Amino acid sequence: MILFKKSEEIRKYLETAAINGKKAGFVPTMGALHAGHISLLNEAKKDKNLTIASIFVNPTQFNDPADFQKYPITIEKDLQLLEANGCDILFLPSVSEIYPEGIKNNRHYDLGYLETVLEGEFRPGHFQGVCLVVHRLLEIIKPDSLYMGQKDYQQCMVIRRLLQITGLDQSIQLQISPTLRESNGLAMSSRNTRLSEEEKIIAGIIYETLSYVKNNLNKSELNELKRKGTEKLIANGLEPDYVEIADANNLQLVDQWNGKQPLVALIAAFLGQVRLIDNLILTDSK
Ligand code: AMP
Repeated sequence: MILFKKSEEIRKYLETAAINGKKAGFVPTMGALHAGHISLLNEAKKDKNLTIASIFVNPTQFNDPADFQKYPITIEKDLQLLEANGCDILFLPSVSEIYPEGIKNNRHYDLGYLETVLEGEFRPGHFQGVCLVVHRLLEIIKPDSLYMGQKDYQQCMVIRRLLQITGLDQSIQLQISPTLRESNGLAMSSRNTRLSEEEKIIAGIIYETLSYVKNNLNKSELNELKRKGTEKLIANGLEPDYVEIADANNLQLVDQWNGKQPLVALIAAFLGQVRLIDNLILTDSK
């Protein structure tokens, strides 16, 4: 694996690779890598790409400074994991490399409705920060394919929109991979390293709740289901920001279901100081 810290150097290398007919598959991450990240890398490898991962804990996407300070960093382990899994290139930039003009948000992306609901509502400014960093990384890497996880369902929709509004959708394919989970259903996440062993067991209730919603989905009224889901989380000591059901294509919240609209259930909840998110498509075959 080749490690680059400077954008100019990785750009030069990838330009030569592209001239030699190599396709670039890009997996952006914030590090503290786990099997979920590696599944994205494996997808990129399956597509016969030169695989490029990045590790950058992006300061502009943290609406809560304490969350940024406590974000897990396990760089030695990450390097080993990437190497062992056949990653070709790692981009490990500094903050000044990504934000040469400083980290003041100077560009605004028109994300419309997407920025006003769910994570957009509870983490103001978060998606602007995500767009800033992903846009900058895409300008540096210029990948043919971009690999992201359904674990961050709304983020995938935001990035699809980013690609559209920047015209990058003409050259970059967004590939979305399923969520990898622990044996109790807990979605793998870098933030799980901040949970105790006991909390990891408790946190399985998030997936259990999503599955409960899926298994009890009925035509018409959905509010009762959301209320029961919220109660389940609270009864297990979690503090939910939301338990929602939305149109899987546009994230419009749904209270009354016609039996046809594709649906996704989404949860964000605190367990102690740690905020966890997860989602489940409700309308695919069981
Ligand atoms: P992060 O390092 O948390 O910013 O995540 C980097 C990428 O990995 C994002 O596209 C995430 O959606 C994806 N990812 C995170 N957790 C998982 C998971 N459990 N399964 C699959 N992909 C994931």
